[in-house]
Amino acid sequence: MKSALVCGGGGFIGSHLVKRLKSEGFWVRAVDMKFPEFSETHADDFVVGDLREQQVCDRVIDRGFTEVYQLAADMGGAGYIFTGEHDADIMHNSATINLNVADRCMKRNIKRVFYSSSACMYPAYNQENPDDPKCSEDSAYPAAPDSEYGWEKLFSERLFLAYNRNHGMSNRVARYHNIFGPEGTWTGGKEKAPAAICRKVAYAKNGGEIEIWGDGLQTRSFLYIDECLEGTIRLTRSGFEGPVNIGSQEMVTINRLVDMVSEIAGKTIHKNHISGPTGVRGRNSDNRLIEQKLGWKPTKSLYAGLEKTYEWIERQIGRNVPEASKA
Ligand code: NAD
Repeated sequence: MKSALVCGGGGFIGSHLVKRLKSEGFWVRAVDMKFPEFSETHADDFVVGDLREQQVCDRVIDRGFTEVYQLAADMGGAGYIFTGEHDADIMHNSATINLNVADRCMKRNIKRVFYSSSACMYPAYNQENPDDPKCSEDSAYPAAPDSEYGWEKLFSERLFLAYNRNHGMSNRVARYHNIFGPEGTWTGGKEKAPAAICRKVAYAKNGGEIEIWGDGLQTRSFLYIDECLEGTIRLTRSGFEGPVNIGSQEMVTINRLVDMVSEIAGKTIHKNHISGPTGVRGRNSDNRLIEQKLGWKPTKSLYAGLEKTYEWIERQIGRNVPEASKA
């Protein structure tokens, strides 16, 4: 029977990935410091453990899994990554997990680990023009990420590829660009732009106002979770090691994102632009390489993904009535 290990299987992407692998007939073990927040895990075996600990890695990486997905990381949205307050934790926690997982898998003779890097590793100097950001895979160097989170991702993608060269592994590295969808963090400070905007719009009254960090002219692209899983699995099973972008090329301003969500909600919403952490000025996935290497690229529209996400967040708010009164 095919078996898979999902590190970070209690997180947003990891818990969706567990479901997907189960639907394909895998025996799945997930490991995370917490259970999934919004639904029961579908894993056959869910280990609550801290992958910074060697003993936990020894315990969970105890056999030759067919596939290993390393998604565990200390991460969050702009409010977590760009304030500088969590830099040491982000670097220490995520690098320790990656060092442990890469080495333990090598020692278990596991050949292939999928590693989720991030578009945050691209140099800030190529992302100053919101209308024409450059994020082709070969533009990574000279390196100049705008956050320590991005620097750690760059280090760890190099780590997994170094194990390929020196230890005969065939690890795979993807650079995710803003993944979103139902069952993602939507409140509490670690949520990202689509979820935060859906929440703010859902709480607002028709004709009301919501706060937006910056002037809203910064651009981004957002990839729906199902497409992310498809790209992840295709890359893992392909003959190409990466690094390769897994993202959408449908670039929008944050203001446009707000307008889309307002339209979905059927509300007129005014934007109050306030100062806040915004990250780079522009970012968009460049999908030429993934199309060339895998013959695949995501196609689902941002609007369709936002409809599902908004509907889910609205339902969460309904279940958290005391929170709603703080709107
Ligand atoms: P997430 O925060 O929902 O999931 C990460 C999981 O890792 C969490 O459940 C967390 O509890 C777990 N974790 C953290 N430290 C751990 C530890 N020491 N031991 C065990 N588990 C630990 O994030 P996500 O959105 O699902 O992202 C998954 C991966 O994809 C991460 O590596 C992230 O950096 C990367 N990524 C995500 C996005 C995105 O937009 N979601 C974009 C780029 C890259």
